[in-house]
Amino acid sequence: MTNQSGQAPKPSRGSRTKLRAHFLANIGRVMDGSELRSAAGGISEWARRVRELRNEEGFQILTHHDRADLKPGEYLLEVAKPQPAFARAISKETRAFVLDRNGFTCQMCGAVAGEPHPYDATRKTRLHIGHVIDKSMGGSDEASNLKAICSVCNEGAANITLQRPELNKLLVQVRRATAADQLELLRWLQNKFKA
Ligand SMILES: [Zn+2]
Repeated sequence: MTNQSGQAPKPSRGSRTKLRAHFLANIGRVMDGSELRSAAGGISEWARRVRELRNEEGFQILTHHDRADLKPGEYLLEVAKPQPAFARAISKETRAFVLDRNGFTCQMCGAVAGEPHPYDATRKTRLHIGHVIDKSMGGSDEASNLKAICSVCNEGAANITLQRPELNKLLVQVRRATAADQLELLRWLQNKFKA
């Protein structure tokens, strides 16, 4: 660390460091804004620092947008490990393109963005961008090597068979379903393929 005498202090960096330490010391505990504000040193910019921890450093800080059991203004860090940097190096445009191409649906479990997760109804489905061929195996950050993947699958928590159903088995399931469920499916398909 260099001595910064003569320079203006950098409160933002200091408060982000304090907030990071506070989150890491309180993994799994729901915290509210007033606690985070005081943890950040009482600055009014604490919420921006939280966003930086999330967007720039990749900490998976959850809010009511991610989890149905969190109230607005509540924050929760469940895992200490940030998302890998490569997952965040992908441009906003590429992310948007891949999510749209994948119908805002997790390509592993079929969960839809913003809806309760099928395997954990307390969580709203939040989509990330994953690699088809892993970076460590030479996979690229091109859209052709990217897919939408939900946070549950991303954490490896969805311990389920993740293969696409075969068409003949799918049709059997659909034919056996109630008329009401078939109609719901029809509406979903019509909405997906409209235009
Ligand atoms: Zn998933």
